[in-house]
Amino acid sequence: MAAINEERVLSVTHWTDSLFSFTTTRSPTFRFDNGQFTMIGMRVDGKPLLRAYSMASANYEEELSFFSIKVPNGPLTSRLQHINQGDTILVGEKATGTLVQHALLPGKTLYLFGTGTGLAPFLSVIKDPEAYERFEKVVLVHGCRQVRELGYGEKIVAELMQNELMGEYAREKLLYYPTVTREPFKHRGRITELVETGKLADDLGLPAISPETDRVMLCGSPGMLADCSTLLETRGFEEGSNANPGQFVIEKAFVEK
Ligand SMILES: Cc1cc2nc3c(=O)[nH]c(=O)nc-3n(C[C@H](O)[C@H](O)[C@H](O)COP(=O)(O)OP(=O)(O)OC[C@H]3O[C@@H](n4cnc5c(N)ncnc54)[C@H](O)[C@@H]3O)c2cc1C
Repeated sequence: MAAINEERVLSVTHWTDSLFSFTTTRSPTFRFDNGQFTMIGMRVDGKPLLRAYSMASANYEEELSFFSIKVPNGPLTSRLQHINQGDTILVGEKATGTLVQHALLPGKTLYLFGTGTGLAPFLSVIKDPEAYERFEKVVLVHGCRQVRELGYGEKIVAELMQNELMGEYAREKLLYYPTVTREPFKHRGRITELVETGKLADDLGLPAISPETDRVMLCGSPGMLADCSTLLETRGFEEGSNANPGQFVIEKAFVEK
């Protein structure tokens, strides 16, 4: 089993009753590719209780960031949601995952489709200089039910636009498209509907999504992944992996039990 580091919680922000984010110290030996996940957790009755979490910070940042759900009675998150600055959490040394640049063929536009906490890996991808070197545009689409659930993504994107090193890239190439399904908002509807009707491309001033020019990363519920994969495959997209790069890649934001 990979080593597990103890990290100190540096900050915690609660966005809604069911979403929070936090930052921790980072072991200098912990290496990862932007878009990957690792196992994190807490010690419960002396034993590590670990769950998969995407890094929401970039691999060159000094601190680690995570974006978390609060599952009522969830073994980990019913505890993790109470962490405070100065507490210790466990972070596994082994990072893995398919939402990485080398699992995709070169293209013009990189679409990042995330729902709920499926946003997390893309917050590290949008900070990756390689994404902007490989693609002319990087489009981050975050789907949620309510406007308040967009708060963390909005904050990270706003900070990135002003960032000394990455701001110029982001201002030129990053398009951010938050959308909600259950409340009035400037963008409304599910990601699949927005792609199918062509509304997403129209709103962004981009051509209809195509396997010739576009690459897609997906992260969300099992249902969202199934619907989006079907939609892309119908349009001729082929799924890629680290060994066999393709036109889209998927990662579960969580597993249904
Ligand atoms: C590859 C991967 C990456 C992940 N990255 C993240 C992440 O960055 N942030 C995060 O909060 N979770 C993430 N998860 C889910 C995470 O591993 C845990 O399931 C979650 O923290 C809840 O843990 P728990 O022990 O409280 O409840 P669990 O027993 O693990 O989950 C109970 C139930 O809660 C629901 N659920 C779990 N996680 C979520 C979620 N994120 N959104 C909506 N419903 C959920 C599911 O129905 C699940 O069956 C990821 C999972 C996978 C497989």
